Amino acid sequence: MAMEVRCPSCGMVYSSIIPPLCSCGQRLEIAYEYEEIDVSKWGRRKPGVWRYSELLPSVRERITLYEGGTPLIKSKLGEELGLALYLKDETRNPTGSFRDRLATVAVSYALPYAENGFVIASNGNGAAALAAYASKAGREAYVVVPKLIESGKLAQIVALGAKVIRYGQTVDEGIGYAEGLAEGKDLYNVTPESNIIGLEGQKTIAFELWEELRPTHVVVPTGSGSNIYSIYKGFLELKRIGLLDEIPKLIAVQAEKCSPIASEVLGVEPRAEPTKALALYVKSPLMKELAVEAITESGGTAVLVGEDELDLGQKLLAREGIFAEYASSVVVPAIMELAEERYFEKDDTIAVVITSSGLKGQYSESREKFAIGGTKLEILRMLKEKTMYGYEIWEALERPMKYQAVYQHLRELESMGLIEEAKRKGRRVYYTLTQRGLNLLESLHK
Ligand SMILES: [Zn+2]
Repeated sequence: MAMEVRCPSCGMVYSSIIPPLCSCGQRLEIAYEYEEIDVSKWGRRKPGVWRYSELLPSVRERITLYEGGTPLIKSKLGEELGLALYLKDETRNPTGSFRDRLATVAVSYALPYAENGFVIASNGNGAAALAAYASKAGREAYVVVPKLIESGKLAQIVALGAKVIRYGQTVDEGIGYAEGLAEGKDLYNVTPESNIIGLEGQKTIAFELWEELRPTHVVVPTGSGSNIYSIYKGFLELKRIGLLDEIPKLIAVQAEKCSPIASEVLGVEPRAEPTKALALYVKSPLMKELAVEAITESGGTAVLVGEDELDLGQKLLAREGIFAEYASSVVVPAIMELAEERYFEKDDTIAVVITSSGLKGQYSESREKFAIGGTKLEILRMLKEKTMYGYEIWEALERPMKYQAVYQHLRELESMGLIEEAKRKGRRVYYTLTQRGLNLLESLHK
């Protein structure tokens, strides 16, 4: 049975592409017969996106690489912070990101409409996912990716055989281009801002979290906003079926440098500058309204994370055995900040979505400078014992180094919020560990 979406306002029917808004301006929604859904069947099926077929569009053929069903891992950091914190490891999907959930549903659904192939505008993860699933289906994939894209993602997309079009500085600029390409070449467009069918796949994160954890809070790295909205829709459907009373509070994490969604929630001035967390570099997300709705309607909040905290996040996730990209690692400093603010209650159960693998990233030696290791760690250890000033630290270091280099380390540690000025005596500035620095040191040595 083919799915049909009818505009509740003007009655227009959509069967191939389902845009977020009808041409009359009404929001379109993919809905199901919620009263008839028997979720007891789910437990008898294998884990994965298609386990929830009653709440997915019907398809003639499933194009699957066994996506979804990703592990939920109890976090060590959570234990140290006194939180029931779980990591939903989406890096374990076939192409290493949550977008495989979108691709399996969109590609399977659209096979009858995609004789000439598929197109997506993406800043990398969606493009890699489409490349893999279109390939599996034996169809062409065109991907419109921005000029700023991590080399790992590009390599993956090219290896999977997609035709790559580099367009615009950020992914939002490519959306219109992909729409043009879809029309000109008669391609099926799976870009979530142009076609909401793939969000049906992404929402299965909510179903898995509900089955395994029943979280009170879900923390989601947020760029375009499509993932947090999808997860919200998933929980909303569970509520409609009567499986839960209250939707978990959804917490969006964005980079301080690019914060269109979080700033709206927090009521601060938005920024739209390039961030190292490239997958979060979406300047004016079309799904902003939906994402903000997901956050506010669920009673959640948003957190902004500074550039200097990205390496810290990656390092702490690595300690859990997970290598995540910067855009996913933002959740760690966000959790630390919320814990410091005592945002969580004692009985809260928190899931954080680790959206994408670090293997897709860019590796450069400059990254090591910021890593918490070597000299920085040694400085933190010294400052744990007593407050010290720069010259004193320089003298006490095991490995001789340039005097100025010590000040560079101190500046970086300070901007990461790990140390702060304790006092001044004449020209001497004495440093001490912040609570965050202390937490970090303790967590690295457990
Ligand atoms: Zn309409």
